[in-house]
Amino acid sequence: MFLRLFSFLLIQCLGALAGAWAAPDALQIRGALAGMSVAGLLWVLLDFSRGLKLLNWLRQADMSDVPLNYGLWGEVADRARRLVRGREQQIRESDARLQDFLAALQASPNGVVLLDAEGRIEWFNQTAADHFGLDVQRDLLQHFGNLVRDPGYAAYAAGGDFLHEVTMPGRGHSASRPVRLSVHLHPYGDGRRLLLSRDVTALEQAEAMRRDFVANVSHEIRTPLTVLTGFVETLQSLPLNETERARYLDLMAQQAERMQTLVKDLLTLSRLEGSPLPGTGEWTSVRSLLLQLEQEGRALSMVLTPPEGPMQVLSFDVTAQEDIAGTSTELHSALSNLVGNAIRYTPAGGQINVGWLRHDDGRCEFFVQDSGPGIAPEHIPRLTERFYRVDRSRSRDTGGTGLGLAIVKHVAQRHNAELKIESTLGRGSRFAVVFPANRVRSA
Ligand code: ADP
Repeated sequence: MFLRLFSFLLIQCLGALAGAWAAPDALQIRGALAGMSVAGLLWVLLDFSRGLKLLNWLRQADMSDVPLNYGLWGEVADRARRLVRGREQQIRESDARLQDFLAALQASPNGVVLLDAEGRIEWFNQTAADHFGLDVQRDLLQHFGNLVRDPGYAAYAAGGDFLHEVTMPGRGHSASRPVRLSVHLHPYGDGRRLLLSRDVTALEQAEAMRRDFVANVSHEIRTPLTVLTGFVETLQSLPLNETERARYLDLMAQQAERMQTLVKDLLTLSRLEGSPLPGTGEWTSVRSLLLQLEQEGRALSMVLTPPEGPMQVLSFDVTAQEDIAGTSTELHSALSNLVGNAIRYTPAGGQINVGWLRHDDGRCEFFVQDSGPGIAPEHIPRLTERFYRVDRSRSRDTGGTGLGLAIVKHVAQRHNAELKIESTLGRGSRFAVVFPANRVRSA
C-alpha cells in the first residue's frame, strides 16, 4: 500500500516537474498543475488496465499463468492463486477420501443404497445393483420404492420404525427359485436414509429345513413313544395272561428298537456334519467291505423273509482288487444302507446283485441292483431328502427311518463321489456310488 502511495506521489512530482519545465516562465505553476493532472490520469489508467487484466485472469480460472507479479494487483493475483491452489488441494484430498469411502462401500458384502429425503436413489453399490436389479444410468434419482414395488417395503419405509428389518423378494425371485432379501433402513443426516440389504435366501432355507427337521424328528419319535406308552398302560391296568404279555412286550421291543435306529441314524448324520472331511490318507479294502456287507445282508434277508415265503436271491461279487481312500466307518454306513434298502424293499424271492465296477476313465463304482418294486421318476430327485419316503408304511414296517439315503448322499459328497439312482416302476432299482479315480488304488 505504501509503495502504491509512493509511486502515485512520485509520478505526480515527475508530472509537476515536467509540466513546470515545459511551460513558459510566467505559467510554471499552471504547467506543474497540468503535469500533475496528466500524470495522475496516466497512473489511474495504468492501474485500471492492470486491474482489468487481473479480472480477466480470474474470469478464465486458469491459475497456471499469473499475469501480474508486482504491486498491489500483483499481490492480489498471487494471493488469489495461492488461495485457489489451496482449495484445489483440499478438494482433491476430500475427493480421494470420498473415493476411498465409496470403494469401501463397494467392497461391502451387503447391498448399500443412499436415499435422499424423498426416498430417491443417490448412490448404490454393485451388490445392491445385483440384489434389486438397479442400473446406474437408468435408476439414479429414481424413487427406490417405485423401483422395487414391494408392499412390504412400502409399508416399512412409510412406517418409520427402523429398529427392525424387513424381508422382501429379490431380483429374479420365483416360486421355484426363491430369492429373499433382508432390507434395513438407517436414517441419517437431514432426512436421508442408508439402506442395507442382505441375501437371506440360504439362511431362510436353512431355517425352514431346521424347522422341518425338528418337526420330523419329533413326529418320528412321538409315534413309537405313543405306542410304547399305550402298551405300558395296558400292561399296568389289564390282567393279561402269559402269551398276551409276551406279545405286548415283543411289540414294545420293536418300538424301542425303532427309536434306537432313528437315534443312531440321527447321530450318524450329525457326526457327518460335524467331522472334518475324510482325507486321502486312510485306505479301505473294497473286498473286505463287500465281504462284511455280504455277511450283514444275508443275515438281514433271513430275518426279514417270512417263514413261508421263498428266500431272496443275493449275489455279491467280492472279487474287487481296489482300495478306496476314505473313512471306513462312513463308507460302510453308506453302502450298508444301500444293501439294506434293496433287501428291505425287494419282496421275497426277488434278486439282489451287489458289486464293484471299474470304469475306463479310472473311476470306480459300488452298485446295488434289485428286482424290487422300483421308484416312480417323480420321487427320485427327492429320495435323499431327510425323512422323504415313497411308501411311508412300507418303510416303517421294515425298520426304515427315512434317513438312509440322506446318509448315503452325505458320505458320497464327503468322498467326492456321486450317488446315481436308476429305477423303473415294477422292475427294480439300481443305486450306485461312483468314486473319482484319485480316491481309488489297486490293492
Ligand atoms: P428308509 O429308511 O425309509 O428306507 P431311505 O432314505 O433309505 O429311507 O430311502 C428313502 C425312500 O426311498 C424309502 O422310503 C423308499 O421309499 C425308497 N427306496 C429306497 N431304496 C429303495 C429300493 N431299493 N427300492 C425301492 N424303493 C427304495
